[in-house]
Amino acid sequence: MVKRVVFNGKGSTFTSWFSASRVILSSWADLTIRSHNYFSLFGADHITHFRRFFMNLDYRSSCTGYRGWFKATETQAGCPKEVKTLAIPRFAYAPGDTFAVWESNAALADAFGVFLSSISSWQPPSIKGTSHQIEDGPNCPCGANRQDAQHVLQDCPLLDDTRLKYWPEPREMNQKLYGSALQLGITAEFIYASDLTI
Ligand SMILES: [Zn+2]
Repeated sequence: MVKRVVFNGKGSTFTSWFSASRVILSSWADLTIRSHNYFSLFGADHITHFRRFFMNLDYRSSCTGYRGWFKATETQAGCPKEVKTLAIPRFAYAPGDTFAVWESNAALADAFGVFLSSISSWQPPSIKGTSHQIEDGPNCPCGANRQDAQHVLQDCPLLDDTRLKYWPEPREMNQKLYGSALQLGITAEFIYASDLTI
């Protein structure tokens, strides 16, 4: 299972991006609809126990009504389940489509990651009429006969490293050229990064 929250980081600091008002989309339907007593990277500092990347609804009636979406706990202190944990940090999350009661129906994640992208500045790829044209071109520096889209996006050995950086998993030409906005953004980034001029 993967839960995700996408934030708009434009104009934010290295901590302020993690805020409810910046959520673009989320695996939890109620994440931005409900109120929060904590929604921050710093989270809750209770002197003996810390909850980071903390997205929490409330602390209603102490531990039994303590509810939220995600927390990374750094200490073996706090509510019973937090105290009993063996390994820290401990990534707890709400496994359903809405918040969970931490002590009764939360789940533990194997991994927690933060991924950054500059997609907001990405341009849709322009196949024709720019210096990054990838229509049929002359011979490629690698020795191939034609430097066309198929060659550049999929085959050219000189671009293997760059290609792997943008597409760690193989992806079909169709998706690279006509896929989602995200896919097209990645294609555009790849073309700029490859420094293609014909
Ligand atoms: Zn080539």
